[in-house]
Amino acid sequence: MSLPPLPSVPTAGLRVLLVEDEHDIAANVWDFLERRGYVVDHCADGAGGLARAMQGGFDVVVLDLGLPRLDGLDLCRRLREAGHGVPVLMLTARDTLDDKLRGFAEGADDYLVKPFALAELEARLRAVARRGRSSGPLACGPLVYDPDVLAAQRDGRQIPLTRLQGALLEILLQEAPRIVPHARLIERAWGAAGADMAALQTQVYELRALVDRPFAQPMIQSVRGVGYRVVAPE
Ligand code: CA
Repeated sequence: MSLPPLPSVPTAGLRVLLVEDEHDIAANVWDFLERRGYVVDHCADGAGGLARAMQGGFDVVVLDLGLPRLDGLDLCRRLREAGHGVPVLMLTARDTLDDKLRGFAEGADDYLVKPFALAELEARLRAVARRGRSSGPLACGPLVYDPDVLAAQRDGRQIPLTRLQGALLEILLQEAPRIVPHARLIERAWGAAGADMAALQTQVYELRALVDRPFAQPMIQSVRGVGYRVVAPE
């Protein structure tokens, strides 16, 4: 099944924070991205990278997993705990499923295994920037989602979400009340990492437990065999 094309993001001026301690890789990536029109800032250790990322102002953080002072997973977790929703593309030499899943649990948006082609890095970087581009709070009836703080609100109640739950709710609200096909939800939330229907169902189940179950009328509807949609209560 082919997906409709997503709007492109202009490359020029996209602000990238590169947190990478290996000098040759950092220099190559920096040089490549600057030639392509990106604005690049670089930190060679995790603690410095976290401080810089916390200051904000970046469209994407390209984050090495193994870093001195604070590793990439801890950096990512602390960034999310502080409420920063900036997209994170994780770099790692450890090609194991375990690390990949941990990376996503800590709030990374995508994952690239070293060694990688620079063109591949750029493609992933543009994809996560596009997904992470904030449009400000989105709303459907009493349900509001603010991607900048990874939290929903319903009837004035604040509901913190995980990165995956937030990505799913964001596209559902953008399209509401239209049905969003399963494949588009998976593409939006998991990116190049991909996921299967069971993973999607699990995330939607958890999302419903947070934004629907405590309230009188459910808003997230499943359309069997097609997708999900959000509909305002009557
Ligand atoms: Ca490293």
